[in-house]
Amino acid sequence: MGRLQGKTAIVTGAGSGFGAGIARKFAAEGARVMVADINIEAAREIAQAVGGVAQHVDVSLNVSVERMAQAAFDNFGQLDILVNNAGVTHLPMPLEDVWEEEFDRVLAVNAKSVYLTARHIVPHMKAHGAGVILNVASTAGVSPRPLLNWYNASKGWMITATRTMAVELAPVGIRVNALNPVAGETPLLASFLGEDTPEMRAKFLSTIPLGRFSQPEDLGNAACFLCSDEASMITGVALEVDGGRCI
Ligand code: ADP
Repeated sequence: MGRLQGKTAIVTGAGSGFGAGIARKFAAEGARVMVADINIEAAREIAQAVGGVAQHVDVSLNVSVERMAQAAFDNFGQLDILVNNAGVTHLPMPLEDVWEEEFDRVLAVNAKSVYLTARHIVPHMKAHGAGVILNVASTAGVSPRPLLNWYNASKGWMITATRTMAVELAPVGIRVNALNPVAGETPLLASFLGEDTPEMRAKFLSTIPLGRFSQPEDLGNAACFLCSDEASMITGVALEVDGGRCI
């Protein structure tokens, strides 16, 4: 019997990296998963691998999030778990040089999306009297590195939103938590390193006590725990999955 047996879940940004790791683990533990991504080909590939449903979504757009939520209700009848994982960063550069369009995009995809999914999914969870929301933030939200200032700030926003949502939604049976991964070996890594060279990787790794990058499986395992009934007393936490980077 899987730890998420009988549960239904949306995982945004699940076509790649951490989101794909979460989708794989959820499916392995018995959940029915909607693999939602702006890259529909990637979503289809992961959905096929995990026996889930692929859905196109741009999490920064209200109409697109509404369509995703409706598709989940149509497919599953009821939605138990929402993972807000889709994320983007801007190119590493001094904070005053970041283009306004990039700033808007980072805030819309990382932060506004949490509001949009809440608008379309929280009413459904409230009516059901239960639900779990997991926001994939970042160590950048608590221990910022230079040159990714607005990305760091967007992740700090997600952590505060998690705590705020947890307090408001606890009385109606909805738990809200966050994960703070350190950079993984995913397509986003190059942005964090500045330049993906062996030297830059070694320098970055020297700041992680356990000496390795986060893997999609690490996120999948932590997400599975926080979204399962084993964590029924846990809400409002932002759990570091960072090999000790934030100590
Ligand atoms: P990470 O290290 O966070 O896993 P990735 O770049 O591997 O980074 O994964 C991020 C995922 O989020 C990608 O699959 C990407 O297509 C998806 N994504 C990016 N922007 C959006 C968006 N606006 N709406 C939905 N998915 C998005």
